[in-house]
Amino acid sequence: MADAQGSLMQLKNYINNDWQAPAITLDTQVCHASEGRPLFYQMASDAAQIENAIATAHIAHAVGEWAALSSAERAVAMDAIADAIGKRLEAIAKADAICTGVLLKTTSQVAQICVLAFRAAANLLRNPPVRQPFAGPHGDVIVERLPLGPAAIIAPWNAPSGITCHKLASALAAGCPVIVKPSEWAPQSGQLIAEAVVEAGLPAGVFQLAHGNGATGAALVADSRIAAVSFTGGLQAGRAVAAACARDIKPAQLELGGNNPIVVLEDADIDAAAEGIINGITTLNGQWCRALGRLLVHESVAESLLSAVTARLEEIRLGHALDEASTMGPVVHKGHFELVQQAIAHYEALGGHCLRPTALPELEGYFIAPTLITGLAAEQASEEIFGPVATVHTFSDDAEAIDQANGTPFGLAAYVFGEEQHAWKVARGIRAGNIKINAVSMLNLNPMAPRPAWGLSGLGDEGVVETFEFFRGTRIIGVAGTMEPVHG
Ligand code: NAD
Repeated sequence: MADAQGSLMQLKNYINNDWQAPAITLDTQVCHASEGRPLFYQMASDAAQIENAIATAHIAHAVGEWAALSSAERAVAMDAIADAIGKRLEAIAKADAICTGVLLKTTSQVAQICVLAFRAAANLLRNPPVRQPFAGPHGDVIVERLPLGPAAIIAPWNAPSGITCHKLASALAAGCPVIVKPSEWAPQSGQLIAEAVVEAGLPAGVFQLAHGNGATGAALVADSRIAAVSFTGGLQAGRAVAAACARDIKPAQLELGGNNPIVVLEDADIDAAAEGIINGITTLNGQWCRALGRLLVHESVAESLLSAVTARLEEIRLGHALDEASTMGPVVHKGHFELVQQAIAHYEALGGHCLRPTALPELEGYFIAPTLITGLAAEQASEEIFGPVATVHTFSDDAEAIDQANGTPFGLAAYVFGEEQHAWKVARGIRAGNIKINAVSMLNLNPMAPRPAWGLSGLGDEGVVETFEFFRGTRIIGVAGTMEPVHG
């Protein structure tokens, strides 16, 4: 497989303390998103490799060496992983930029998040959440939080390294043995992260990497020895993961998609809103779970807003992900390119008009100019497209804006532009996990704030503390006896 530098990087699993090639070569190829040329065939673990990984994790949990370490000792290991990832930042960023089409400057920021994820886990372990005992009939009733057991981490391709590291750092910090399955469309950064974890030297079987596609992920999550699953991806696969976990009644953290609104009120700063819309449609080339999906604008400012946005769309430099001059890159692969184009064609067939003044580059990659589609009713545009495409709808008052914002089964992110108090009032009516006022950015409002999801956007809050706690279960122990009933 050609790596980020164009030299050969063998795709390998890390299972049972051993690097080994995945047994299955699939017939699908990963291509250079900016150039369209084939890079390598996707590879998958076979049933024996998956069994080996699960059995190894199961034994590691039963032996309990990792879970038995003190929080402070696990914190040292988290820092060692952060250091080892720090040595690979350039390679991680370049691999993700080549496979996904996301600009190198953005994948470089995401790679930094990998280091920060392990540092955050180390900090948490140095100040772990403490549960106070209850008074019992014969002394204290203690509350313990324990690692659930072997965890499966299933990653998507859009920001593969950052998402993997957040989940991995949280699960390891919680004391769980972990099996990571990277996306088949962007497996290289997962492997570089795996090299860093192995370099840090965890106890045997605590960390494993199993490459593969949806079938590999499905085999992992369906096994009863896997005690917890953290998944980020699309709704269809999310539902399959939820169903598999339901059979074992095991916890599943599901981070799924969205069709996120930007609401522009009549008293908004039009330039700030236009800037936010550009960020919302171009961040990760529109392949961002919190990307702009629906632009909801007060009818009195729609014309001036669209003209400010058009001027900015004309300035976007759609180009090669590794070119520093590019301000936006291509979508990930040919199949996804076709799906996004089909979605645009579908909206045009419904009567939508496309606004897409950005020039296309003369490159063979999967380039789609950011596209705003006017002329559709809000009810006609409820699905996630996961590309640089948003529909535009007008409203005449706050109640209608809130209605439109809540008009999908999703509830991941929303953005409101307007005079601050007015924007707060509208934001409070929106059913979404994360609402930002007067800006659109990939950065969380606070690094320690949770990242929740409502409706079809997911299950189980993400966050430094939240994901750590997701991988732990509670045990209460105390000496039994009769106790006076508590009144009150
Ligand atoms: P996807 O659902 O196609 O794949 C995600 C991962 O799941 C891959 O590793 C894939 O191999 C695996 N998979 C597929 N079917 C599976 C199954 N039945 N069982 C277990 N694993 C399975 O998603 P994608 O195309 O890689 O990513 C894009 C989607 O991810 C978008 O919908 C986007 O909104 C969502 N996403 C959400 C967040 C969030 O934080 N909410 C973040 C990033 C991406």
